[in-house]
Amino acid sequence: MKYNHEHITSALFGFALFVFSNLSQAIELPQQDNVPGGIAIIQLNETGDAAPKVSYKKKPVMVIKHQQAWYALIGIPLAAKNGTHSINSTHAGNNNSYRFQVTDKQYESQYITIKNKRKVNPNKDDMKRIGRERKKINAALAHWDDLLYTNTLQLDLPVQGRLSSPFGLRRFFNEQPRKPHSGIDIAAPKGTPITAPASGKVILTGNFFFNGNSAFIDHGQGLITMYCHMDSIKVKEGQLIKQGEQIGSIGMTGRVTGPHLHWSISMNNARIDPNLIVPALRQTPPTDISTPSK
Ligand SMILES: [Zn+2]
Repeated sequence: MKYNHEHITSALFGFALFVFSNLSQAIELPQQDNVPGGIAIIQLNETGDAAPKVSYKKKPVMVIKHQQAWYALIGIPLAAKNGTHSINSTHAGNNNSYRFQVTDKQYESQYITIKNKRKVNPNKDDMKRIGRERKKINAALAHWDDLLYTNTLQLDLPVQGRLSSPFGLRRFFNEQPRKPHSGIDIAAPKGTPITAPASGKVILTGNFFFNGNSAFIDHGQGLITMYCHMDSIKVKEGQLIKQGEQIGSIGMTGRVTGPHLHWSISMNNARIDPNLIVPALRQTPPTDISTPSK
């Protein structure tokens, strides 16, 4: 949890202080769901102005103040096992641990046919490229910054469209099992603007074999959002972005069956169900998953 000194430019420091002072007052909590792909929310006993440092599986997790109390917000990985999990806190030289229960969740299965077989069974050169890209992507998703760039944990939808594939689906590409769907897909016409659901800092952009043109935004304290298959990318690495500013536009780059945004939300490097942190999704009618897209 080391402080990242590169951020202490005068302009940004002012921005950060502004955000912090707002946050310590009245930040709304996301929804809790103690399942794989969910968020555990634990009220801490520690008091005082300085935030306790909290870790889960030895990695830092988000800590925010809500109604005068400190809370740890923990992203639960899709691969998490049922049972008792714990976090550790450090505060004023004291260590403490807290436990929470994770229960099972059965996500549905989805079968997708991809015509470009190379996108399902990549060749040797592709595999090298995928390996290189995976390192970058994993590093971006595991990124930690003590600063909280966002002043809300109620994220906006980055694009209006049809929710074409929900979170958590167990997936089969051309009958072969692959990793579960770690985000949501929003289908919209090519060129539709994609905007930042909350303020943050762009930490990675690029063109990737599976994900196509992509951008990663760090909202602070382990909250990272990822945007894939874009037609154009409108942001640069290192750029600060405010809620509502454009990130890119809808496209069909990478492994896709039609134009859409694949949007993943990560907390402490666990991909979480966007429904828990995006109020607009909870008002959307049940999704139609009969028209699959990556
Ligand atoms: Zn997707």
